[in-house]
Amino acid sequence: MRYYITTAIDYVNSRPHLGTAYEKITADVLARYQRGLGNEVRFLMGNDEHSQKVAAAGRKEGLTPLEWCERMEGVFREAWSALEIEPDVFIRTSEARHRTAVQALAQRIKDAGDFYEGEYEGWYCVGCEAFKREEDLKDGLCPDHAARKPEWLKEKNWFFKLSRWSDALKAHYAAHPDFVQPDSRRNELLALLERGLDDISVSRAGTDWGIPFPFDSRVVVYVWFDALINYITATGWPVDEAESAKWWPADLHLVGKDITRFHGVVWPAMLLSAGLPLPRKIFGHGFVNSGGGRMSKDAGRVTDPLELSRTYGVAALRYYLCAEAVFGTDLDFSEERLLARANSDLANGLGNLAARTAGMLVRWREGVVAAAPASSALLARADAAVDTYRTCMDALDLRGALAAATLIVTEANAHVDRTQPFAMAKDPARAAELDAVLAELSNSLLLACRLHHPFMPAKMEQLHLELTGLPLDRSSSIRTARGARIAAGTRIAKGAPLFPRIEVAKG
Ligand SMILES: [Zn+2]
Repeated sequence: MRYYITTAIDYVNSRPHLGTAYEKITADVLARYQRGLGNEVRFLMGNDEHSQKVAAAGRKEGLTPLEWCERMEGVFREAWSALEIEPDVFIRTSEARHRTAVQALAQRIKDAGDFYEGEYEGWYCVGCEAFKREEDLKDGLCPDHAARKPEWLKEKNWFFKLSRWSDALKAHYAAHPDFVQPDSRRNELLALLERGLDDISVSRAGTDWGIPFPFDSRVVVYVWFDALINYITATGWPVDEAESAKWWPADLHLVGKDITRFHGVVWPAMLLSAGLPLPRKIFGHGFVNSGGGRMSKDAGRVTDPLELSRTYGVAALRYYLCAEAVFGTDLDFSEERLLARANSDLANGLGNLAARTAGMLVRWREGVVAAAPASSALLARADAAVDTYRTCMDALDLRGALAAATLIVTEANAHVDRTQPFAMAKDPARAAELDAVLAELSNSLLLACRLHHPFMPAKMEQLHLELTGLPLDRSSSIRTARGARIAAGTRIAKGAPLFPRIEVAKG
């Protein structure tokens, strides 16, 4: 089985912030989960470069747009790697392969009779890189970019006959209830389709920073139209049709809730027009809010994810972002909550279980784990938690999945308090009983480690190595988690604490 997952590509006019990182981290978790099931995964990320604001950011530094984008590629890749985000493919829209794909797709749409020339007159917000209707503006300003007045544009443009595809899209939504998720986003788009779609302008004149139309080199392709095509460029289309057919259609486009309209309406219409299959699912995640509003560079409210990861650890940051809010709803960022999660769930929960289990084994059994008891209520519940976890992950319920993984930890920690291994250790007659309890704890930890791995890869790989002496197999860790047991006789290594308690000075 193959799984193709994408994130929105980013404008590179400034450094990535926590809101951007949220999407990439959650996508990385899902990609790792799919790999753990044994699927062949392609996880695509990249940069959206043909934007006027990107060109302007370069100009400010005295750089050409391309020079600027090259510099920013390094900035973005470094940030993602520091956050343990590992895409399989990283695309930049200025690459030759993307130009080829954009021109091929545009030609197909032209051949289908879905482009026509017209005059466009109206407001354009550079912040959104989008045309605005009068009713979209508040006191003449874009609600998301109040600092910057929209420009009045009058251009001869190419238009895409989006209106022609309303009925086909409605039929597709009806036949595929999961096409756009969560339901709140789906309902928004269905309402839009009910009202009927307007044709959209898809070219820009007066700039050469972009991809020229194959049939009209005087104008470039509108940045959104250009950007959406990256998802199919990255499969090898149209040059390598066989390779492309392995990956297209995508299984999941993970995007912010503000751009589900582009992904759930415009993009599928483009594909229908070009005679290409539609993606299987589009999921609109919520925003990371801070100080009462959306965290965004335009609003001037940003938190640096790298700074947070230095203070709290990458693992805690990734864990917090996935555990704190239902995926698909907004997350109200709070450093106090991040600290509380790091200390309660990780230091006192998983970290404590790992430390005390290894500690007891080393102290009383020279680190050697006995065979897991054939019948153990604790391990039976841990195995059942694997099923719950998988059901949640398949439904993109990251928080539910983490709750199932955490349950294994909580129950194992409670098992220590209930069985009192310290009392058993004092009584030679209870040696077998003690062996069984220690094996139950070590194996609970093994399952918790496997299930937490997509969320905190480096830490869980360290734990797996200490527990089993073997590197975690990323391509089967989830598929074989149910019933997985540490081989009897394995010697556990007691490493440095996984999640030391974090004390942060107040003020
Ligand atoms: Zn705007």
